[in-house]
Amino acid sequence: MEISREHFEGLVREAVMSLPEDFRLNMDNVSIIVADEPTPSQLTDNGLSQHDVLYGLYEGVPLPERGSYMPTLPDLITIFQTPIERAARDIDELQDQIVTTVRHEVAHYFGFSDLEIDEMGLG
Ligand SMILES: [Zn+2]
Repeated sequence: MEISREHFEGLVREAVMSLPEDFRLNMDNVSIIVADEPTPSQLTDNGLSQHDVLYGLYEGVPLPERGSYMPTLPDLITIFQTPIERAARDIDELQDQIVTTVRHEVAHYFGFSDLEIDEMGLG
């Protein structure tokens, strides 16, 4: 399942727009970008091997840990197009995986752990 970058980015935007409003309105200073694949250091920095599959990555200081300190660099959520395309058999699966991945990474931004995110069904 392969689509153009433009189409993929459009689906990511839709996934962001489908977030609950409470979430969306509190997403300050966070950029969401699309990349082909994680870099080797993005994998190793997160305790993953080069064979692990990573659909998305949150990098930054989660909101609850910020206190009054506002980082100058925006937080970054990266959605990886190629692994998501590889996992999807059709456009519906692709769209579902993008929504799940965006929600998963946004949940990290709000300070939830992977365990808590799993329990929300967004693992
Ligand atoms: Zn996670």
